[in-house]
Amino acid sequence: MNKVRYERPVIKKLETGMPNKFGTRMDYEPLTHIDGHSVAKMLKDYGSPLFVISERIIRSNIKKAKRAFETRYPKVQFAWSYKTNYLNAICNIFHQEGSWAEVVSGFEYDKAINLGVDGRKIIFNGPNKSELDLTKAINNDSLIHIDHLDELYTITELAETLNKRPRVAIRVNMDTGVYPMWDRFGFNYENGQAWDALNKIMHSGKMELVGLHCHIGTFMLSPHAYGVAATKLAELALSIEQKFKHEIKYIDLGGGFASKNTLKGSYLPGTDTSPSFNDFAEAISTALLNSNFQKDKLPLLVLETGRALIDEAGYLLGTVISNKRSSTGRRNTILDIGVNILFTSYWYDHKITPAQPFTQYTEDTCVYGPLCMNIDVIRESTSLPLLNKGEHVVIHSVGAYNMTQWMQFITLRPNVVLIDAEEKLHLIRDKESLENMNNMEKIPEHLRKIN
Ligand SMILES: *Cc1c(COP(=O)(O)O)cnc(C)c1O
Repeated sequence: MNKVRYERPVIKKLETGMPNKFGTRMDYEPLTHIDGHSVAKMLKDYGSPLFVISERIIRSNIKKAKRAFETRYPKVQFAWSYKTNYLNAICNIFHQEGSWAEVVSGFEYDKAINLGVDGRKIIFNGPNKSELDLTKAINNDSLIHIDHLDELYTITELAETLNKRPRVAIRVNMDTGVYPMWDRFGFNYENGQAWDALNKIMHSGKMELVGLHCHIGTFMLSPHAYGVAATKLAELALSIEQKFKHEIKYIDLGGGFASKNTLKGSYLPGTDTSPSFNDFAEAISTALLNSNFQKDKLPLLVLETGRALIDEAGYLLGTVISNKRSSTGRRNTILDIGVNILFTSYWYDHKITPAQPFTQYTEDTCVYGPLCMNIDVIRESTSLPLLNKGEHVVIHSVGAYNMTQWMQFITLRPNVVLIDAEEKLHLIRDKESLENMNNMEKIPEHLRKIN
């Protein structure tokens, strides 16, 4: 007979506050395995903490998204947003699924070229493209999305010196009924800036205006806002056609679809409130099909969806360091996962699941990371069973914006593994070492010796 685990008794203050809609019990099971692999074994083999990415979930998500759009609109192209997760293996999954690359810096641009992406299938966004970056992009015939007039003038000059005709689009910002409005990137629709830029491009005759782009925000919960954006860009495209007899090849609606994560302060979990790909696709395709494009002149619809395609595919596995009581008696659990590797814990109430069976007794718990910093809090308050030192937890939906925004601070960045669709496990990024860090540093001669 197995020995029953001892759980020390606690006296709990009765909270007469509100249970949520499902009561106060934890509504989930332990997560002992991910795509056939034991959490405990992966942590033993690759160290704790550990990022685990499921290729099966990524491929299933991109297929779902493609189906949602392609069944509603005849010409659709996805472009993978590199800043969302630019580990090489991850980018290549998206490229194998037919996605172009969407990059926002020279570093990301070079990364895409390095992976073998055809220059003509790279969309270059962002406010900071150097002359060197632009020269590369023009020579490779990439799609350059102009952010401001200074950039427009630089491209005009480069077109002349390189004797090339760069393919460009402008980024348009606009009022879609969602506030605060994102108006710092691109040219405004309502106040006429967008037309100023379009007139300059068309009259200069130096560039090929191929598209119109917008990215109206991030973690958007309103499909309607995309319908408004699509309608406004379609109107612009049709007016350009009328004024200049020039056809716009594509309309790019950017990224920003919400993932299934739960934003801090939300009452209901994201799994209940985030719209599906079908909802977004319906709003966008209806707006484009209802506009006045002739049947053979429908523009290609480009989507730069990031987080909604990969968030759920990422897990962060970790280990309990200790439990202690706060001065008010609340249980504090300390994990080896800090905010330095889980940047999104500032925005989301990430779901945390124990990785081994647990009893029914749960308690309101504050989950801390291992850093010697007061702000290192993973969850301010969540209902968890007692987790003993050395036991494991899984943090869910961490695939987007963590493996790019993580920082080397106090601890080193951990291993990242990918479980492929056949459930084979691959190390796709090595954990950092002191040697890696020291390789980047130089000590001046007079500081070499300390005694
Ligand atoms: C960040 C970004 C995206 C991806 O946004 P998600 O919220 O991850 O979908 C797409 N396009 C542009 C221009 C971006 O800056």
